[in-house]
Amino acid sequence: MDRDAAFSYRCAACNRCCRGKRIQLNPYEMARLARALEIPLDGFLRTCVEGDVYLRWNPDKSCIFLGPEGCRVHADRPLVCRLYPLGRIVNADGERFVEVTPHPETEGAYGKDGVIADYLNQQGAAPFIKAADAYYALYLRLSAAEQADDSQFVDMMDILDLEGFVAREAARRGETPPATLEGKVERHCEWLAEALSGAEERP
Ligand code: SF4
Repeated sequence: MDRDAAFSYRCAACNRCCRGKRIQLNPYEMARLARALEIPLDGFLRTCVEGDVYLRWNPDKSCIFLGPEGCRVHADRPLVCRLYPLGRIVNADGERFVEVTPHPETEGAYGKDGVIADYLNQQGAAPFIKAADAYYALYLRLSAAEQADDSQFVDMMDILDLEGFVAREAARRGETPPATLEGKVERHCEWLAEALSGAEERP
């Protein structure tokens, strides 16, 4: 489906969908969540993330942010949660959306009284999609370079720690860091790409 496809969905806050999902985070999403929780990124990674990039589960496989009243980080929830019950697939042909299999007892209401573009707007998905695309492009470059050279070009924490990396790099360059997190994402990707190009060119 593309953005013009008929689609609507109303969450009934039954909380059944926030269980057993592997939710991958990019550095923008990590920074937003760490800010929302008012903890430093290293603390966020230690307490809320597993496998480097996945939101941690409680022992019953519910999301670590699922509370009795629903999502405790709703305003800063990741893109996967904003898109649900859609999934977004990006490849060389562009983007497309698919419906993911819902919880069998979900109380969410599916309909056709809108289009996917409307749903993305309702969910505030735009900055998350922009960041996801920027980091995905960077990831492809990093993977290709590392496979070709069999070495790691960029430190993992420089990738994960958006705010820390941009602050350090801006100070080194004598620049003022962007005021917004979205502006920092642009600098983060731009400066990491520069670091990668420099590393690739070194003999
Ligand atoms: S972040 Fe919020 S919306 Fe996403 S799975 Fe966790 S509780 Fe649910």
